[in-house]
Amino acid sequence: MEKAKDIFKKCVDFTLADEIKAQGLYPFFRPIDDTDGPVVSFDGRKLVMAGSNNYLGLTSDPSVKQASIDAIKRYGTSCSGSRYMTGTVNLHVELEEQLADFFEKERCLLFSTGYQTGQGIIPTIVQRGEYIVSDRDNHASLVAASVMAQGGGANLVRYKHNDMADLERVLKTIPDSAGRMIISDGVFSVSGEIVDLPGLVALAKKYNARVVIDDAHAVGVIGKGGRGTPSEFGLVDEVDLIMGTFSKTFGSLGGYVVGDETVINYIKHHAASLIFSASPTPASVAAVLATLKIIREQPELTKRLIANTDYVRQGLLKAGFTLMPSRTAIVTVLIADQMKTLYFWRRLFDAGVYVNAFIRPGVMPGHEALRTSFMATHEKEHLDKVITEFSTIGRELGII
Ligand code: PMP
Repeated sequence: MEKAKDIFKKCVDFTLADEIKAQGLYPFFRPIDDTDGPVVSFDGRKLVMAGSNNYLGLTSDPSVKQASIDAIKRYGTSCSGSRYMTGTVNLHVELEEQLADFFEKERCLLFSTGYQTGQGIIPTIVQRGEYIVSDRDNHASLVAASVMAQGGGANLVRYKHNDMADLERVLKTIPDSAGRMIISDGVFSVSGEIVDLPGLVALAKKYNARVVIDDAHAVGVIGKGGRGTPSEFGLVDEVDLIMGTFSKTFGSLGGYVVGDETVINYIKHHAASLIFSASPTPASVAAVLATLKIIREQPELTKRLIANTDYVRQGLLKAGFTLMPSRTAIVTVLIADQMKTLYFWRRLFDAGVYVNAFIRPGVMPGHEALRTSFMATHEKEHLDKVITEFSTIGRELGII
């Protein structure tokens, strides 16, 4: 009998990370030793954080920290079980009620991460013979959830990024009687671009599709009082399910979906990523209750966030950089070369600016970029530093 190939050979053959490390250009898994939000420290050296999703800066708000501490004191550090069984505490129910109210939908269901939320919705709802219609630039978690649904016999069809003519072309290929769900990021995570929701919703109506929007990067950023993309366009009733995460504006960890009672009830009783995984910790849920209160009471934070981001965007455009189209809290600088992106990243890191380097597999070859994102709590001096260092290094590297 021929000897089986060692399944771990691919791991031994994987040398890219080591090669980048050997050149001192490895941008990933860097441990931060201290943070107050807009400024973080690495090995005791302070850097402006220009790559966090902590959009309103609420992770370091004293009332949010205190809420988590109080929850630990009352409920302990873990629920030690799934929501389905022994892992539901009062805080979960209270947050579900408050989020349903905030997003103006009948019901809400919490998950332990945003990633698991997509996995809880897509394979649960889109079953054998039914269709997922997905934007090509949707977040990796939605792609993974769609592939999972394919494993259960669902069909996955994709349309060109935010291209409504191509969405219609794809919808026309689906058999008339087959159920279909259109799924899109509200704010695309790499570029910060906003979905053409009016166009998408009109096609959903025409072709009898249900609509799911992943609003991870939209809450606290756009929409009435920071309520996200459907609210931005006045289309809350036309979007069937709105999902999101607590790991960005909400300053915590976890995910949620809001929608009609019957659909949420079905997901609640069928979603494997909910039923077979431990519930969000009391500390995580309490933090969201506290940040939600701040989001409701201080809408000016969203205005500051947008003003801060616009300031950097204008500065970088004036300097001559090519930016991806965005008016949200994400400003992505296109570099279009892997080594230049890593080298630029390292130079910024050394100069005291921390951003995200996007190389493969995060983006396609030719789309390598430095993704920056901003906070309501950045001061002008932080933003000026970002613009100045980008411009100086960009000129030296011949990018501008
Ligand atoms: N959807 C989108 C659009 C995201 O950007 C992210 C996180 N980067 C997720 C889902 C996953 O959320 P979480 O971090 O809560 O797993």
